[in-house]
Amino acid sequence: MAIVAVPQLTDNYAYLVIDGARKQCAVVDCSEADKVLAEVSRRGLKLVAVLPTHWHPDHVGGNQELARAVPRLRVYGARTEGGRIPAMTDEVGDGDEVAVGPIRGRVIGIPAHTSGHIAYYFPSLKAVFTGDTLFIAGCGRVFEGNADTMLASLGRLAALPDDTQVYCGHEYTEKNLQFALTLEPGNAALKAKYEWTRRTRAEGKFTIPSTIGDEKRFNPFLRTGSAELRASLRKIDPSVGDEPVAIFAKTRELKDRF
Ligand code: ZN
Ligand code: FE
Repeated sequence: MAIVAVPQLTDNYAYLVIDGARKQCAVVDCSEADKVLAEVSRRGLKLVAVLPTHWHPDHVGGNQELARAVPRLRVYGARTEGGRIPAMTDEVGDGDEVAVGPIRGRVIGIPAHTSGHIAYYFPSLKAVFTGDTLFIAGCGRVFEGNADTMLASLGRLAALPDDTQVYCGHEYTEKNLQFALTLEPGNAALKAKYEWTRRTRAEGKFTIPSTIGDEKRFNPFLRTGSAELRASLRKIDPSVGDEPVAIFAKTRELKDRF
């Protein structure tokens, strides 16, 4: 298994990206270093890199402790995050490459939740780590951008191949789906995902990963073109036009209050 989720805090996920042949790994987002280090050593691995998606403490709170515990650890971080990534050793930007041994990942700039939020896309693993930008059936709050920048960022992720697995920063899936159902009650894929999610959570299991192709079927923030979604929004606010950015902004506004 090349990717392993390590639960953090109440609903965060850190992920180990594992190079099995060389027994080394990177961690995407770490708030609790002890739990990550325990999983790394339990698997007999060496931690070589930290790949933070953005500066919020629930994604980088463990960086200092990891850097103290692991000599020569590389800690990546977006240049556009303005020096807010603790223990950062390597600045990266959109299009740059990161490596876990022979496993190559590409940085995708997806600002809006924070100004320097990035995703890490690993084509050989068919996986993307989306932090707090794209959640399963949801998206992050817009703190350091606007509806335009968030919509553009989500669009970059949606343009990845449909079979790309989505590993996001939080277990928010069930609540996200409940909100989505208020806008698209007739969406069969959405209903099926909700039933699956309720069963999965009742069994205490994780809902990650999803896929880009599936997200396009039920994630309201990737569905500004949906006729049912648009009609639902118009019922709530007749002034909403047909512009994708207005549809997105209204959906985000409603989710903020859900
Ligand atoms: Zn965040
Ligand atoms: Fe977060």
